[in-house]
Amino acid sequence: MEIKVFNNLTRQKEIFKPIDPNLVKFYSCGPTTYNFLHVGNARAAVVADMFHRSLKAFGYNVKFVRNFTDVDDKILESAKARGIHPKEHADEFIRECLTDYECLGMLPATVTPTVSETMPEIITMIEDLIKNGYGYVVNGEVYYNVPKFKDYGKLSKVVLESLQHGIRVEVDGQKKHPSDFVLWKPAKPDEGWSWDSPWGKGRPGWHIECSAMAKKHLGKTIDLHHGGVDLLFPHHENEIAQSEAANGCPFCQNWAHNEFLNFGSEKMSKSLGNVVTIRKFTESFSGAILRHIVLSVHYRSKLDWTDECITKAIGEVERIHECAQLLSLAVGKTCDDQADVENIKNHLSGMQEEMANDFNVPGAMGSLFLVIKDFNRRVLGDISTNYINEVKKCFQFMRDATGLVYDDTYSILNQLNQARKHLSGTSSDNDDEVLLLLSERKDARASKNFKRSDEIRNRLNELGVVIKDNPDGTATWSYK
Ligand code: AMP
Ligand code: ZN
Repeated sequence: MEIKVFNNLTRQKEIFKPIDPNLVKFYSCGPTTYNFLHVGNARAAVVADMFHRSLKAFGYNVKFVRNFTDVDDKILESAKARGIHPKEHADEFIRECLTDYECLGMLPATVTPTVSETMPEIITMIEDLIKNGYGYVVNGEVYYNVPKFKDYGKLSKVVLESLQHGIRVEVDGQKKHPSDFVLWKPAKPDEGWSWDSPWGKGRPGWHIECSAMAKKHLGKTIDLHHGGVDLLFPHHENEIAQSEAANGCPFCQNWAHNEFLNFGSEKMSKSLGNVVTIRKFTESFSGAILRHIVLSVHYRSKLDWTDECITKAIGEVERIHECAQLLSLAVGKTCDDQADVENIKNHLSGMQEEMANDFNVPGAMGSLFLVIKDFNRRVLGDISTNYINEVKKCFQFMRDATGLVYDDTYSILNQLNQARKHLSGTSSDNDDEVLLLLSERKDARASKNFKRSDEIRNRLNELGVVIKDNPDGTATWSYK
C-alpha cells in the first residue's frame, strides 16, 4: 500500500519512496540524558516508535537510529554538582530513559548511538567541513560558515538576511556572521570530560552529533528524519547544512516533526519548570495510558495535557481491552453473517488507509471503535468464525502499527483501577479491606453462597468499588 507522509521540506504530503525500496533509513533525535524525561519527551519518543511500527506493519524493513545526547553543558553541570564523572551521570539517565521507553511499550531502535562513542566520526566530519570551506577555526574553536551554504533555510524557510537584522545577537568577536554556529569548542579547565582533536582538547557543538551519527549508521542520504517541532530550527536546518556541505549530496528526503505537548498554554519543558515526568505519571497511572494519550491526537496537532485527556484515555483503553478479552473467548457458530464480515473488512481497509495517510492514528482508532461497537452488539447473538477472525485482524493491525493494543488484557484492565483511583484522589486506606472482600466474594461465589456474595457487593459499593463479572469467571473492579 502507498504511504503518504507530510514532508516539512516541501510543506506537503508526499508519497513515501525510500531510496532502497527494501530498507527505510530512519533517524530520530533522541533526548539529552541529564534528568528524567517528561511526558512531552514521551510524545516525541512514542511518535517515532509509531512511525517505526507503522512502516514495519506496511511491510518495510526499517533501520531506525535514535541517539542519546550524553555530552552536554547540563550533563556536565549535574555531574559536577553530584561530584561524579559526567559519563556516569549520563549513563544513569540513559538507563532510566530505557526503562521509561519499555514502560511505554516501545520497540527497541536498531541502533542507539551516543555522542561520546561517535567522537572519531564527529571529528572527521568537522575536518571535512573545514576542507570544503564551510568550517573555520578561531582560537581552538571551530565554527560553521552559514552564509557559505546557499541552501540555508530550505527546511525552516528562514531567510538569512532577516535573521541577521531581526535578532539581537550577543557580539561574539570570534564569529564571522551572527548565524554561524559552533562545531567544536575548547574544554574549560574544570569541565571533567573532553577529547583530543586537531584544534586542541574540547568537545563538539550540539548539531554536529546528529549529522555524524546519521552518516555512520545510515549513510550519506537518509529517507526519514524526525524530531519535535522545536528542533526544526536551528537544529535540523544546521544538520542539513553540515551533512550536505560535508558529503556533497542531499541529506534527507523527508522531514517529519511532532507538535508540542502543552501544559496550560505553554510547551511542557524542563526550563519552564512545568513538567510531569514519565516516571511519576506511569507509577500512578500506566505506560499504556500515557501512550494512548500521546497518540490520541494526530502527531502534527498540538496536545493539551489535562485531566480530561487522561479520563478519556482511561475510558478508551478500557473499551479496547474489554473487547479484546471478549474476542479471545469468542467461539464461532455456523451462521450466515457474510454482510457483517464484509463490513469489518471495510473497516480494516479504512484503518490501513488512515495509517497510510500521514500516520493518522486518531482516524484509524475511530474505525477500530466502530468495529468494537459492532462486535459488542453482535457477540450477544451468533457470530461466525469468519467474523471473529476479521475482527481479530483489526486488533492485530492496530497492535502492530500503533502499539495501542496489548496482549495482556487482564493486567491492562487492572491497571485502570489504580489510574481511576489516582484521578479521583480516592483514599487508599480502604485498599486492604477491598482486596480482602474481593477474595472472600470469589470464595462465596465458588461455593454458591449468593447471600454472602451480595452482602459483600453492597459493602464494596459503600467503599466506592464497582465489580464487573467476566464471562470466564474472573472479575474486574474499579473505583467509581
Ligand atoms: P530534548 O531532550 O529537549 O532534546 O528533547 C528530546 C525530544 O523531545 C526532542 O525531539 C524534542 O523536540 C521533544 N520534546 C521536548 N519537549 C516537548 C514537548 N513539550 N512536546 C513534544 N515534544 C517535545
Ligand atoms: Zn538531532
